[in-house]
Amino acid sequence: MSEQLTPSERLYAIVEQGLCIGCGLCQSLAGRERVWVTKTLNGFLAPVVVGDLDHETVDRIYAVCPGTRVEGLPERLIEPDTHADNVWGPWRRMVRAWASNPEVRFEGSTGGVMTALGAYLLKSKRVDFILQVKASSSEPTFGEPTLSFSEADVFEAAGSRYGPAAPLLDLDAALERNQPFAFFAKPCDVAALRNFAKQDERVDRLVKYCVVMVCGGYGTPRGTDAFFKRVGIDPDSVTGLRYRGRGCPGPTRVETPTGSHEYHYIDYWGEDETTWTLPFRCKICPDGIGEAADIAAADSWIGGGPNRVDSVDDPGTNVLVARTLAGEELLAAAAADGALTLEFDIPPDTLSLYQPHQVSKKYAAWSRHQGLRDAGRLAPATARLRIEELAADLPEATNRLQREGTRERVDSGKASEPMPQIWKPAGADDES
Ligand SMILES: Cc1cc2nc3c(=O)[nH]c(=O)nc-3n(C[C@H](O)[C@H](O)[C@H](O)COP(=O)(O)OP(=O)(O)OC[C@H]3O[C@@H](n4cnc5c(N)ncnc54)[C@H](O)[C@@H]3O)c2cc1C
Ligand code: SF4
Ligand code: SF4
Repeated sequence: MSEQLTPSERLYAIVEQGLCIGCGLCQSLAGRERVWVTKTLNGFLAPVVVGDLDHETVDRIYAVCPGTRVEGLPERLIEPDTHADNVWGPWRRMVRAWASNPEVRFEGSTGGVMTALGAYLLKSKRVDFILQVKASSSEPTFGEPTLSFSEADVFEAAGSRYGPAAPLLDLDAALERNQPFAFFAKPCDVAALRNFAKQDERVDRLVKYCVVMVCGGYGTPRGTDAFFKRVGIDPDSVTGLRYRGRGCPGPTRVETPTGSHEYHYIDYWGEDETTWTLPFRCKICPDGIGEAADIAAADSWIGGGPNRVDSVDDPGTNVLVARTLAGEELLAAAAADGALTLEFDIPPDTLSLYQPHQVSKKYAAWSRHQGLRDAGRLAPATARLRIEELAADLPEATNRLQREGTRERVDSGKASEPMPQIWKPAGADDES
């Protein structure tokens, strides 16, 4: 491909073929003077080439981008006594839990465990800061990367940001600090970081813990605008959006110049998985369950989502999956310290009841990737995720349906995005 396409065209192929999740790593790797991950005309965060880009740099990007490569837990982190579940991957402990501090439990997206773990990591001086995502100061529906140095900083970042967010935008600056830190993000962000560890030795030396949320996909800008319109709000008038948290799931709270407006999580996402509007990359995701992380945090609603009645006074209970020794030890230490309350351990089958959408996506991933290959598209290279093995357990007709469905999606243009171009606010000076 490198002989036919220019370096920019090769980078743009990832975006145009719907595989970019806007993690920001290509900007950090290539430098902001060459690649800028920014809001583009279709509303997503994506890389725009703004300087000279060479094939060698694009080769390095292809090796780390979570659109082109996703791997499970590095082998060196899998202990001989680690359990191996075909769907849920390597795990040492699965336990229902919540943040012991009621304020953190309330503020958090589910039971506040990620916020409690972040605060504990800083308090216990295991790390100097957390690289994570908080609400964007410039784009009301987005998340933005932040370095949290205090428990108050971590608290400020609580709550899921379902819009675009690029946690790895300034990874190089975080590594330049030469201080131990933790990375809290989505599974694909951690996959990107683990890929990058093979190119930069500082990652394994400085990143002491990777903690992720189990992730069914993020909300598209189009889907979020459609939600605003459904509830009678002009998307351009929105000044702030809190997707969930302050209860479980807590209200979706929209700020506009006329005041705050609260809706239910179900009003945002719709009644079930079939109504979610997701980026294409999320539909073919081979790892929404955070296989490469030390700890993954999930919701615990049976069936995968809340209902309007029970969610009124749900204080929030997570499931925590510790995959590594470091993750298991951290979980126990945070519980001993009183930062986390652990309720009871569960087996993988119970987690499957809480996360049926993750189970079906994991089984479907291989055939969907085959459908991409059939269509001559890029598909993420995978390792240690067992997706081919899982597909082999399905009836042939089901795999064929997934494979052909993906191919049809490609043929109908539903798996394509336009060439990324920098978005400018209405009326912005073209010369600026
Ligand atoms: C896009 C998305 C999809 C999700 N899908 C599922 C799912 O399918 N199943 C499920 O069980 N749970 C899902 N969740 C996770 C769930 O909403 C909770 O975030 C998770 O259970 C942790 O809860 P908590 O109370 O510990 O979080 P909190 O204590 O509120 O902490 C949230 C943490 O997530 C980080 N964060 C928030 N948004 C982003 C983002 N966009 N990118 C990177 N980091 C971010 C924050 O920095 C913070 O560290 C999803 C979350 C997101 C953001
Ligand atoms: S997924 Fe990340 S690394 Fe890949 S193209 Fe998008 S922003 Fe760049
Ligand atoms: S579904 Fe997969 S690709 Fe999409 S945001 Fe979640 S982890 Fe990333």
